[in-house]
Amino acid sequence: MTAAGHPVKLSVLRGTLIMFRRRCSKPNCRCAAGNPHESPALAYTENGRTKTLTLTDVEVPEVAAALARYEKARSDLDQAADAGIADLRIRLATPRQRRHK
Ligand SMILES: [Zn+2]
Repeated sequence: MTAAGHPVKLSVLRGTLIMFRRRCSKPNCRCAAGNPHESPALAYTENGRTKTLTLTDVEVPEVAAALARYEKARSDLDQAADAGIADLRIRLATPRQRRHK
């Protein structure tokens, strides 16, 4: 844990960065005139339900990077799985060679 930065390092994250728009209850606020408050949030699915975590502006770049790492890792894994399917196809299409004499 360091004084600067976050105590918890985000490795990967699943979900989508969204922007919350809301109005507060102050009648003289800019949001009452149609200029809503915006706060970044992470929307993600857990047990089939969509949940959101409101973020601070400082967290957005780190969250975005963790989301990108997840997408990259998932795409790499999908590619490896596709290659596995291709290998399996080849193996099944190739006549069996006698392993024992
Ligand atoms: Zn307001």
